[in-house]
Amino acid sequence: MHAVSESRSATPDTKTYQGGCFCGAVQLSVSGDPAAMGYCHCESCRSWSAGPVNAFTLWKTDAVKVTRGADQIGVYNKTPRSYRKWCKSCGGHLFTEHPHWGLTDVYAATIPGFAYQPGVHVNYQETRLRLHDGLPKLQDLPKEMGGSGIAVAE
Ligand SMILES: [Zn+2]
Ligand SMILES: [Zn+2]
Repeated sequence: MHAVSESRSATPDTKTYQGGCFCGAVQLSVSGDPAAMGYCHCESCRSWSAGPVNAFTLWKTDAVKVTRGADQIGVYNKTPRSYRKWCKSCGGHLFTEHPHWGLTDVYAATIPGFAYQPGVHVNYQETRLRLHDGLPKLQDLPKEMGGSGIAVAE
């Protein structure tokens, strides 16, 4: 090692995490730090995921890169606010793009190497699975994301 002569990259503190779909045909990476992490209890997330909650990590759109299998990605947008993407080979879910926020929700389970640290529950008024973890429970969304910001009981 010649530490003195090593050149530092442009963004030396930027961490990158690898992820992928259930079968591995689609691989992706996320870089940096997420804008927010938590659980969404909304009806759309539950219906699409067939699960009781969605564990989300929100990243700036350009922090998410598909590194393999881009041609295997299917997309469905019920509304212009959420473009839900999955692997056409295995059906495994990958992420949801939210263009109006400039953010992409990469599901926590899609990036197993990333230390998921949820900070909030959103859309808790729609919950089908009450969780008593002491984290804040928002009726809908934070104010800065267009919601009421109102907290409700666990
Ligand atoms: Zn797959
Ligand atoms: Zn949701």
